[in-house]
Amino acid sequence: MSHPHPELSTPAKLRKGGLRVTAFGGLGEVGRNMTLFEYDGRLLIVDCGVLFPEDHQPGIDLILPDWSSIRDRLDDVEALVLTHGHEDHIGATPYLLRERKDIPLVGSKLTLALLDSKLREHRLRETVHHVVKEGDRLTLGPFELEFVAVNHSIPDALAVAIRTGAGMVLHTGDFKMDQLPLDGRITDLRAFARLGEEGVDLFLTDSTNAETPGFTPSEKKITPVINQVFRESNQRIIVACFASHVHRVQQVLDAAYAHERQVAYVGRSMVRNMAIARDLGYLKVPPGVLVDTKDLADLPPERQVLISTGSQGEPMSALSRIAQRNHHFVHIEEGDTVLLASSLIPGNENAVYRVINGLARWGARVVHKGNAMVHVSGHASAGELLYCYNIVKPRNVMPVHGEIRHLLANAELARATGVENVVIAEDGVVVDLVDGVAKVAGKVDCGYVFVDGSSVGDITESDLKDRRILGEEGFISVIVVVDSVSGKVAAGPEIHARGFAEDDATFDDIKQPIIDALDRAIAEGNTDAHQLQQTVRRVVGRWVSNTHRRRPMIIPVVLEA
Ligand SMILES: [Zn+2]
Ligand SMILES: [Zn+2]
Repeated sequence: MSHPHPELSTPAKLRKGGLRVTAFGGLGEVGRNMTLFEYDGRLLIVDCGVLFPEDHQPGIDLILPDWSSIRDRLDDVEALVLTHGHEDHIGATPYLLRERKDIPLVGSKLTLALLDSKLREHRLRETVHHVVKEGDRLTLGPFELEFVAVNHSIPDALAVAIRTGAGMVLHTGDFKMDQLPLDGRITDLRAFARLGEEGVDLFLTDSTNAETPGFTPSEKKITPVINQVFRESNQRIIVACFASHVHRVQQVLDAAYAHERQVAYVGRSMVRNMAIARDLGYLKVPPGVLVDTKDLADLPPERQVLISTGSQGEPMSALSRIAQRNHHFVHIEEGDTVLLASSLIPGNENAVYRVINGLARWGARVVHKGNAMVHVSGHASAGELLYCYNIVKPRNVMPVHGEIRHLLANAELARATGVENVVIAEDGVVVDLVDGVAKVAGKVDCGYVFVDGSSVGDITESDLKDRRILGEEGFISVIVVVDSVSGKVAAGPEIHARGFAEDDATFDDIKQPIIDALDRAIAEGNTDAHQLQQTVRRVVGRWVSNTHRRRPMIIPVVLEA
């Protein structure tokens, strides 16, 4: 990935008494959030999440933040603070802990429980946990932390205030200001006001919905819509939502209970997370509602509800497989209802519409965000952000969590309320807070770190480019044998192609030009196999581009005999 700010250079040494803030992900994309704070030689990390790959990143499982610039300083890390349990905030933690296992992990009860099950999957045990809750204070080295309740699309989310000698930072994490949330736990604006009174020097605010005017509607608004869908369905209902959206699952369980249906979870992460949420008391399962998938199949369709993962069209998820009719036990039938109770994360549109079309083709009624109010966002809209700025009255603002357009929209909101200094920083941009003023101080390397199977960081952008060319344009291999004594083509060229509709005879036209070009190159004294291969590549490349308007991958092999 080319750096968005080539003009920036390596930052100068941090001034004594200054605080340095650098995001290793999350600024310029929705995902892989990770922010580093440095004070007096010590480091504090807030969040360590993953980004999910898009269509143009074939074969990639996950994308991690790039913490390579502190790889040799991991011993200076006081702690990793996790604001909430979403994958884009906790998902990369196992990969960080592989590099230093005993980094203390700080987060709420639910956040750390969700993380813990993930760590166990990665065989990471005996990690160091500090469970905190709103109102708690915790001092780690030079960082004095205070936690504030925030409302979001997962329970138990926290904002964190970080006090150092350089001033106070308030990091909202992901939040919104639902005034009537299902669990009654609202964003603690009284704490925001108190911290504002004390003086917030740098305010890091969630930008995801900064472009959306007004206020994010309350979760409660969805309940009647879900009930209506239940009332109108006389066959099976399949609900897809995030495997961490405890409140959405709660609404579906309640609706199922009210309409005398029974529910089974489908998808490993859904089963696991909801068991954790239930055990910890965040999810209240009405009596007799929950059954095993095997038992659900014995019920008549009008008594069945499935709650599944895959609301973002993830190709391996239960819902995608159901849509392709290759799920091992859920077969979609005409008249079934599928409820996609989730947002559409930018980049996932094609995949989600593919799933909706697949389901619709089998005769399912698909209810989604586009045709009913079955989802509200977990993030504050512009109106809520304005409130926050006016309540906190920060000296400096740094928008976080979003694509560049979201960061810029959020910056505009801050300025509109009179914040004088707003710093736009993308991934890898280093911001220093010195003498109460935040300024860009330079940049560190910060690329995409790809996880592909068991390999982490080995796949590069150029490998992905090759995969795209192979996927979209196919490939042509050309094998030629050159007689090292006579300097003439002794055999071939033998040409094979994949991803071309034409048969191999298509390439007859280009065989003689290849031979001619090689003879000419050898006559000019180019006998090196690599140079001759380049000659073949050029001839074939030009021909295929002119005659077929294609740019396949060309693999020339010149052998000497
Ligand atoms: Zn979140
Ligand atoms: Zn997030």
